[in-house]
Amino acid sequence: MAMVSDIYGSMVFNEHTMQERLPSATYKSLLRTIKHGEPLEIEVANVVAHAMKEWAIEKGATHFTHWFQPLSGITSEKHDSFLDPVSDGRAIMSFSGKELIQGEPDASSFPSGGLRATFEARGYTAWDPTSYAFIKDEVLCIPTAFCSYTGEALDKKTPLLRSMDAINEQAKRVLALFGEPVERVVPTVGSEQEYFLISEKDYAKRMDLVMTGRTLFGYAPCKGQELEEHYFGAIRPTVNEFMKELDDELWALGVSARTKHNEVAPAQHELAPIFTNANRAIDENLLTMEKMRLLASHYDLVCLQHEKPFEGINGSGKHNNWSLSAGKTNLLEPGESPMGNLRFLVFLTGVIQAVDDYQELLRMSVASAGNDHRLGADEAPPAIISIFLGDELGAVVDALVDEHEYTDSGKESMDLGVTVLPNFPKDTTDRNRTSPFAFTGNKFEFRMPGSSVNLSDCNMILNTAMAKSLKDFADALEGTPKEEFKTAVFAYIKRTLRAHQRIIFNGDGYAEEWTREAERRGLSNKTTAADALPCFVEPKSIALFEEFGVLNETEVRSRYEVKLEKYNKLLNIEARTMKRMVRRMYLPAINTYAAEVANNINTIKAACPGADTEQQDELLRRLLSGIREIDTHLRALGKLHHETLEIENEQEKANTYAHEVIPVMEKLRKAVDDLEVLVDRDHWPVPTYNEILFYV
Ligand code: ADP
Ligand code: MG
Repeated sequence: MAMVSDIYGSMVFNEHTMQERLPSATYKSLLRTIKHGEPLEIEVANVVAHAMKEWAIEKGATHFTHWFQPLSGITSEKHDSFLDPVSDGRAIMSFSGKELIQGEPDASSFPSGGLRATFEARGYTAWDPTSYAFIKDEVLCIPTAFCSYTGEALDKKTPLLRSMDAINEQAKRVLALFGEPVERVVPTVGSEQEYFLISEKDYAKRMDLVMTGRTLFGYAPCKGQELEEHYFGAIRPTVNEFMKELDDELWALGVSARTKHNEVAPAQHELAPIFTNANRAIDENLLTMEKMRLLASHYDLVCLQHEKPFEGINGSGKHNNWSLSAGKTNLLEPGESPMGNLRFLVFLTGVIQAVDDYQELLRMSVASAGNDHRLGADEAPPAIISIFLGDELGAVVDALVDEHEYTDSGKESMDLGVTVLPNFPKDTTDRNRTSPFAFTGNKFEFRMPGSSVNLSDCNMILNTAMAKSLKDFADALEGTPKEEFKTAVFAYIKRTLRAHQRIIFNGDGYAEEWTREAERRGLSNKTTAADALPCFVEPKSIALFEEFGVLNETEVRSRYEVKLEKYNKLLNIEARTMKRMVRRMYLPAINTYAAEVANNINTIKAACPGADTEQQDELLRRLLSGIREIDTHLRALGKLHHETLEIENEQEKANTYAHEVIPVMEKLRKAVDDLEVLVDRDHWPVPTYNEILFYV
């Protein structure tokens, strides 16, 4: 059997392969592009393209593709073969520098939010050399950004890269003040991906799962997750085989899949990779999601990546672990020395300011129809953003804000006004799962993203908001005389923490009391995507993105449109699927069963006049009144859905779905679910939660 170290990265054109395959001058020049963002000369690109092609062909590749992330969030690819016919009837395999750097997909069908009229459909893709090319299914995949010909970003990656530049520039200014010049500061991300695996057989019989990714109906199973037997439990053999193949495939692609385990809900699992730079981490997460979906079919399984496939059962999230790395230094690692700690406090304060100031944007970045079922549903953080610091760090921050002496757990006191700061013990005790944004020792964990989301949006916002905090700091402190620097930094930190203290909350985020407390603190609480999205286009948000050159106003507006449209389209599909299932599956089945019960009553009465059929009569009555109830809600949904489709303004449409259509859908669901437990199992037209979740 091949060793993991042999497989690992074998399908990736990584730095090691580059060094091996490229002439030294080309390699150095490419590295300058990768590490310092220097422009790539066409001559260099030609040499790289040739080496890449030779390498790919040796590995069995026949095609290449520019791999990109349009605004739908999932990855796209169009395969071109290397084949180049020559005049004598033969063909050579070719791949030029130009083909490597730039592609022109006919991309008229990708969402652009009005940025690109169909008649001028052409956008272009541009190589992102900071994320390695790789071979997937005999195709050389080149990670690319996707822009319109007028230069507007049409994808998720471009603004993310721009935000990484912004944070790099500002963080370097801050580090320079500390006398620590570095080459580059990079945000790092580790994403934990949750998912469900269910049997293909059951899946195929559930129109709701097939059409919408979640069950629109279904009575709670006899047992849920209360026995807590699934979390970290032994992994089923088939699932284990699936996970092994997944690991192998991901390792070959250089994705460092590390931890895998069963999650809290039955049939739920998680995969966590080792973190890397934000850009590559997101590419890796998308690859992971794709591989999960594809490989599940090898085991007659289906991988569900929806945020809430089963009502009443925990949904799936994707924790976004985030930090800032300056070479070998993690800037969110409490330092060893007093000065190191001061720098740490500056970056910590920056995060607190960023998250408080742009809490609505962060909430917006994870808003989707699917995630609405998760946030605030007692399993995931609420829709209110707050920061958890833990006891140790919380005490340090309190001491700074209140200007009292800080005493750490070792009872050593220190004077915060002067230069000495303790080595804060690293808080490894964080198990406050109720916090949406938690400090976990040397990084922050943003726990709101849903399992299906592309993490580019939230990282783009986090990076840009943080760049703003760091810029404020640098603007205020640059020019301060050396001997006054520490005092000035302390004063700045105290001032800033005081202004943003409201965002810090170490208590139980699931408690009802917190909702009231958060309101008193003036924190935002947008419970639906329809309510959360408009903040994207508020002047404050646009000003932030424009200040750092991450998105211009047109790009922001187009993204907002795309998100709204997606929400409305999904809800339209859900409403339509519900109606169709009720009309064509549930009602016919329930009616058939009711008729059978009625026939039974007649048969019994004919055979045995005067027999006591009270139970059968009652059952029939309940079935008939249930049918009436279903019909009432079905009609109400039909009418309302129809009216909603007529609404032209997309925001108004989204509001109507969120606040009027969904409540009716919930009533219809309940009416059907109530009958699921009355109707004979053999008559029920779809697999039930019991069967789907506890398959063997
Ligand atoms: P938990 O289950 O407690 O949330 P895990 O160990 O499963 O923790 O996941 C932690 C994730 O955080 C991993 O993906 C890990 O690589 C990532 N991580 C660790 N350090 C950093 C860092 N400095 N920056 C970004 N992500 C990090
Ligand atoms: Mg986690």
